[in-house]
Amino acid sequence: MSKPVLVVGAGPVGLTMAAELARYGAPVRVIDRLPARNTRSRALAIWPRTLELLDAAGCAGAFVATGLHAQAVSIHAGRRTLARIPFGTIASTFNYLLMIPQSGAIFP
Ligand SMILES: Cc1cc2nc3c(=O)[nH]c(=O)nc-3n(C[C@H](O)[C@H](O)[C@H](O)COP(=O)(O)OP(=O)(O)OC[C@H]3O[C@@H](n4cnc5c(N)ncnc54)[C@H](O)[C@@H]3O)c2cc1C
Repeated sequence: MSKPVLVVGAGPVGLTMAAELARYGAPVRVIDRLPARNTRSRALAIWPRTLELLDAAGCAGAFVATGLHAQAVSIHAGRRTLARIPFGTIASTFNYLLMIPQSGAIFP
């Protein structure tokens, strides 16, 4: 058996790399300087293109099934609406913003 590829950093980039290597049959070892999973989220929104790439990797389903599908974002200043950005016209199967925290709150 070949030596595992060492992936340093278990954030979204490292985990995506590890998942892709594993999908192509390469053994992987993931390390992170943190001793435990970070409980704070640094990402709430997954954008359509990211979902397309996760789908190509065969793992969008669990995220899509768990997250909230936001159809639009509105920006307010006090009672005044400054902008409303709809996502329905995006040319993608995933024409919404998927709201799901990066932390382990949903995937224990
Ligand atoms: C407040 C906030 C809100 C955000 N909201 C969104 C959002 O809604 N949607 C979105 O798409 N993005 C969002 N982002 C951006 C998103 O969090 C980052 O783009 C994403 O986390 C970057 O992933 P990464 O894997 O490159 O880095 P990180 O998530 O930072 O992961 C890097 C990992 O590598 C480890 N590491 C670093 N150096 C070493 C080392 N020398 N040895 C071992 N391990 C190491 C770290 O401990 C960490 O676990 C947000 C960011 C912040 C700060």
